[in-house]
Amino acid sequence: MTVTPHSDTASLPPLQEQPAAVLEKTPLERYVAPDKPSLVGMSRTALGAALGAIGVPDAQSRMRVQQLFHWIYLRGAQSFDQMTSVSKELRAELDRHFTLARPEVVAELRSVDGTRKWLLRLPSEHPAERPHEVECVYIPETDRGTLCLSSQVGCTLSCSFCHTGTQRLVRNLTAGEIVGQVMMARDRLGDWPGQSGRPGAQPGGGGPPTQGERLVSNVVMMGMGEPLYNFEAVRDALDVVADHEGLGVSRRRITLSTSGVAPMIPRAGAELGVMLAVSLHAVSDEVRNELVPLNRKYPIADLLEACRAYPGLSNARRITFEYVMLKGVNDSLADAKALVRLLKGIPAKINLIPFNPWPGSRYACSDWEQIESFSEVVFNAGYASPVRTPRGRDILAACGQLKSATEKLSARERLALRAMAMTD
Ligand code: SAH
Ligand code: SF4
Repeated sequence: MTVTPHSDTASLPPLQEQPAAVLEKTPLERYVAPDKPSLVGMSRTALGAALGAIGVPDAQSRMRVQQLFHWIYLRGAQSFDQMTSVSKELRAELDRHFTLARPEVVAELRSVDGTRKWLLRLPSEHPAERPHEVECVYIPETDRGTLCLSSQVGCTLSCSFCHTGTQRLVRNLTAGEIVGQVMMARDRLGDWPGQSGRPGAQPGGGGPPTQGERLVSNVVMMGMGEPLYNFEAVRDALDVVADHEGLGVSRRRITLSTSGVAPMIPRAGAELGVMLAVSLHAVSDEVRNELVPLNRKYPIADLLEACRAYPGLSNARRITFEYVMLKGVNDSLADAKALVRLLKGIPAKINLIPFNPWPGSRYACSDWEQIESFSEVVFNAGYASPVRTPRGRDILAACGQLKSATEKLSARERLALRAMAMTD
């Protein structure tokens, strides 16, 4: 599930003006798993090893790694031919052994507000099995563009309100597949130096974009999967994503969302140095056990203790607590007051997420008035009001109106939407 981490953007056009543009889904039969490894996602060390394996002498390795890193992550090269500072012979040799492939895009949804959602196909671990599919979403806002990445195919944690948790197949994404989502998004958005997608960019023009110039300025690990259950790959991927000689998304602009794997939070603080978001969703263990079964293992008190100890917290650097609004389950004003009490003393932001229903889900989204009253309690306690009236239409869309809007779509478009579990 993907959530917009900030809700203070310009209002959206009415829903009927938002036809989702959909690319037709590539039939599975045409899928061919890549036969050569991709260099995309590799760290400098891994690139050095890859070069060593094809006979590049040690003495040249450092310089060649710098060149590859630059072409892959700063310039977004999609073929070795583009790497004009690399000798022709080495380019041919690289091409014989490697690719620069990103995850394959099988469907793309575009909204007129600029939001894009991609369904990506990844090879399964066993050639005989069907390939896997994960989602990646781009959410443009006035002052930033946020890319939401998946960390796993499916999720083992089975939160009762989350569609991802119902999926049978689970595998960890590799670091390459996580970085590959950023590369794919920047390809599709035209967000590389010299491409016209970037605001103020001159086609054919020069140098690396500054952070503010980039369409993808922020990254959130809030797509499918529990990132702290795929720690090493997420860490290695974020190291590449944050590298200022490449993709250059600073760690302050990267947020990792966890369902509450308390014992991993210190390690996340020590090794990732990114912003933390915690899916709290309830104020009592009784309710949270139901919503987030992991709570039976790591109850609220343990989770909040780990949060309090998260390094570098201050008013300018807060933990985001996510709270999904479920009608009659966790949305009373008593819950709101308890939430505020619970978080006392932790530099925190509270992100109220309207529940996004899916076929077969047993919950309903809280009424808009209830979300507003809940948000008011939170606001009066000194937290930035996380859900604002201008976003009403957007929020209603998340709570089921998108579904009725999609009833007007063609069968093919509905199919693609269904493929992304956005409607039934
Ligand atoms: N596994 C991690 C990150 C991915 S989920 C986590 O649980 O934090 C990202 C966010 O989407 C979480 O806060 C999750 O609780 C929320 N979410 C999942 N399903 C949802 C739904 N149907 N409606 C609204 N939010 C949902
Ligand atoms: Fe969904 Fe996150 Fe729970 Fe996994 S941990 S089931 S992705 S909400």
